[in-house]
Amino acid sequence: MYDYHFHTTFSGDSTIDPEKGIQRAIKEGIKEIAVTDHIELNVWRPGDVFDNDMVDFIEYFKTFEYLKEKYREKIAVKIGLEIGLQLEEKEEIDHLINLYPFDFVIGSTHTIDKVDLFYGKIYEVDKAKAYELYFNEVLRNVRVFDNYSVYGHVDLIVRYALRNYKDVEVSSADMELVGHILKEIISKGKGIEVNTSGYRYGLNSTNPNVEILKLYRQLGGEIITVGSDAHSIGHLGANIIETYELLRNLGYKYITTFKEMKPYQNKL
Ligand SMILES: [Zn+2]
Ligand SMILES: [Zn+2]
Repeated sequence: MYDYHFHTTFSGDSTIDPEKGIQRAIKEGIKEIAVTDHIELNVWRPGDVFDNDMVDFIEYFKTFEYLKEKYREKIAVKIGLEIGLQLEEKEEIDHLINLYPFDFVIGSTHTIDKVDLFYGKIYEVDKAKAYELYFNEVLRNVRVFDNYSVYGHVDLIVRYALRNYKDVEVSSADMELVGHILKEIISKGKGIEVNTSGYRYGLNSTNPNVEILKLYRQLGGEIITVGSDAHSIGHLGANIIETYELLRNLGYKYITTFKEMKPYQNKL
């Protein structure tokens, strides 16, 4: 089992202590884990303040280099990052990614016009419009950014739409945009991640969903990681085995791991 997405107390919204997280991952039978704490630059928070989610990278590398060495016989630890991609912040984002020796970077769309998808503002328009806005934002990001490893939870909007709309399905019009997004990702030699947290958010599905995973495979997509997106210790490794089974059934032969930003294919 490779869990390629989890957050520790280096991210403001996670309760996982780095060392306890690694120990728990070993207990869960995880063979390799990538820590992917958050960066989100200058995003809007309630109260109309702009805020940064930033990681103390000096401490982060110090901590995980130490843990990597200490537990090397039991688990492979990769040092990664989940970064919110925003065109307005491209220069700073590229700078940060290049500044540190990451093994793996998840690029995600967490905001539209600097507003976190978590907040209701975005859902004041109807569902079709909100989804169109979101997938167009992802499309712009995949066209402009080049230095991430996999795109995080490509259909993330579904997670939050659940609270705002009756129907949250990704429509055929959306799928057309998703097709363009996936083609761009594949042509640039990047991958996608399968995020298992949808099972915990009441979606009863991975993000992206099965239709998108089928399409990615059809289009020739091969670079794919799976991650729990755990923010609390009990979620490490959650639903990863079932997701491997799903991917096998969809014709995937490999799961990707990364080292120094280079992809490695592991037989499923
Ligand atoms: Zn995310
Ligand atoms: Zn995450």
